[in-house]
Amino acid sequence: MTNRTGHCLCGSVSYEVEGDPSFVGVCHCKDCQRQAGTSFSFIIGVPSSQLKLSGDTVKEYVTHSDSGNDVVRKFCGTCGSPILSELAAQPTMAYVKAGTLDDVSGLTPMAHVWCSSKMDWVDIPEGIPALEKQT
Ligand SMILES: [Zn+2]
Ligand SMILES: [Zn+2]
Repeated sequence: MTNRTGHCLCGSVSYEVEGDPSFVGVCHCKDCQRQAGTSFSFIIGVPSSQLKLSGDTVKEYVTHSDSGNDVVRKFCGTCGSPILSELAAQPTMAYVKAGTLDDVSGLTPMAHVWCSSKMDWVDIPEGIPALEKQT
């Protein structure tokens, strides 16, 4: 079991994750591409009870999944770094943007989701589940 820490680009928002993530994956949804400004989000799913978020510049922007559920996207209002998403459909989980972690050693995607909007140049390694949408 590893505790992991991370922070936004400017350092105003930081967090600590207790224990190992229950999900490690890649989200290719259009909203993640837009928010990140790049091809996909590398994310870790952790129970919200094991996540401590701190900093007074946290802002939220709510998007909606295809099924119409709220997706609360938390980001730093000073530097704009996306930090995590909370899905109304999974209220006890937080999906942290793994690019903000201080140490990503040992984290390998278990699955890719929303491959229906995956960019063509991105190849998914054989043997890794690639879901058209999200389970
Ligand atoms: Zn920041
Ligand atoms: Zn996404």
